[in-house]
Amino acid sequence: MTGKSAVQSQGACVCGAVRFEIDVPAVWAWHDHGEASRRAQGCAYATYVGTWKSRFRWLQGEDELSRYEDEANRTTRSFCRRCGTPVAYEKARSPRFINIPRSLFPERTGREPRYHMNLAERADWTYWGEPLGPLKGYPGVMRERPRKTRLDPVRD
Ligand SMILES: [Zn+2]
Repeated sequence: MTGKSAVQSQGACVCGAVRFEIDVPAVWAWHDHGEASRRAQGCAYATYVGTWKSRFRWLQGEDELSRYEDEANRTTRSFCRRCGTPVAYEKARSPRFINIPRSLFPERTGREPRYHMNLAERADWTYWGEPLGPLKGYPGVMRERPRKTRLDPVRD
């Protein structure tokens, strides 16, 4: 058992039943553009903070977790069974490591997400910083301009 570092960052699911903390800084933070994370988290891509399990602690609600083991990809995803928030993503090939969605931490984790994984699986509808303009008649709604170089004329 190693000692805790001096600084922790705490996170929680949407309903607050599951709470946890990591020692800061996290080991790294990354964007996962892979299909599995996109589907599991219902987003264009998922952003994770990764750390050693020895630097991660459940604070509350571990018994509220449900786990899904993806045998094909050899991964396990844990989510709050009350509110459905994805909480942890673990890989069998890295058994001492845990990945937590960055969005669950309201405070800093000591790492900026500067790494992109599985870009070959990136969804072609992912917003990628294209210029936006206001949509007339809908205050607060921004719209991407049509892509002039689009090769495929089929629209979603
Ligand atoms: Zn919850």
